[in-house]
Amino acid sequence: MKTGDRGARAGNGNFLWLGIETSCDETGVALVEERAGRIRVVGALLTSQVNRHRPFGGVVPELAVREHARNLPLLVTRLLEEAGLRPQDLRGIAVTQGPGLASSLLVGNAYARALAASLDLPVFGINHLEGHLFSPFLEGDGPISFPFLGLIVSGGHTLLAAVEGWNRYRIVSATTDDAAGEALDKIARLLGLPYPGGPEIERLARQGDPKAFRFPRGFPEEGDLRFSFSGVKTAVRYFLEQHAERRSDPRFLADAAASLQESIIRTLCEKTLQAARQRSFRTVAASGGVVANRRLRQMLEEGCRDAGLCCRIAPSGLCTDNAVMIAAAAAWKHAAGIPPSLGTDIDPGLPLAL
Ligand code: AMP
Ligand code: MG
Repeated sequence: MKTGDRGARAGNGNFLWLGIETSCDETGVALVEERAGRIRVVGALLTSQVNRHRPFGGVVPELAVREHARNLPLLVTRLLEEAGLRPQDLRGIAVTQGPGLASSLLVGNAYARALAASLDLPVFGINHLEGHLFSPFLEGDGPISFPFLGLIVSGGHTLLAAVEGWNRYRIVSATTDDAAGEALDKIARLLGLPYPGGPEIERLARQGDPKAFRFPRGFPEEGDLRFSFSGVKTAVRYFLEQHAERRSDPRFLADAAASLQESIIRTLCEKTLQAARQRSFRTVAASGGVVANRRLRQMLEEGCRDAGLCCRIAPSGLCTDNAVMIAAAAAWKHAAGIPPSLGTDIDPGLPLAL
């Protein structure tokens, strides 16, 4: 993989990046322009494969790889066309190297390397989690402010990271079992809702009472920063068995959805605020698919405000997997003078803190 830098040759000081994200079941491409450390999103396209995977209740790797291979070249062509740009206008390519599904990552990386070779461009391998981590700074007031406490809540991850600077990340806490999004997806299935379950539960919860039922919370002791979401999933299973006769009552289902959502979200917010207090962080930055949840956004904002913390939350449309965050991470790092830190190989188990 090329790691050379043609930034100085861009001439007008602008640096146009193509971002590619194929770590799971979304094929994402994006163009971002970086100038003096500021990011402008030129365009972005995303094809979700949700409908292809829905009948199976989860992502089928074999299907995902075929969809990526079919869609990726078409999306890049369309993205450049819609932006009125040519491949020759690019100054760098950013691609997700991991973590994710090996076969899906391979499609994006092979394509990125081939395109970069044909255009003589540098390639930046980006950690998918690093993309999420900095996505809260794509919108809102002010630049990235180190240090910050990053909360990532997605279908595959739930973690808190201390972010001291570029490439200086430490895991403060992570889930000991299911990720929060994974638990929501599994619970939604128990409730008879389609995949992905998080948005479906949020929709149902809007009509329900979050105080109607109590569901257990993982590691509820004050100061224990560990996350656990398999307990609430099991509790919901037993709860639904116990109330089998009410399963067709819409009011009951809405109350159950609101109550279990509240249990998960309150845990996420309280542990984040506790970690910020324990480690004396002034800024909290939240990202990942579950952060699209409006109740979570509201609760975290209020909690931060009460605690006197600066709260940055990823734009709703950029919470789930996307290529804007991948291109932006590469652009920011490049602007900060950080050389590409990842090698040429994909790494399905790539950790955030190396
Ligand atoms: P990601 O892994 O970052 O692509 O995020 C996907 C996960 O986010 C899945 O588990 C979804 O169920 C979850 N998710 C997406 N939107 C919402 C939402 N509005 N509320 C809760 N969870 C959500
Ligand atoms: Mg993700």
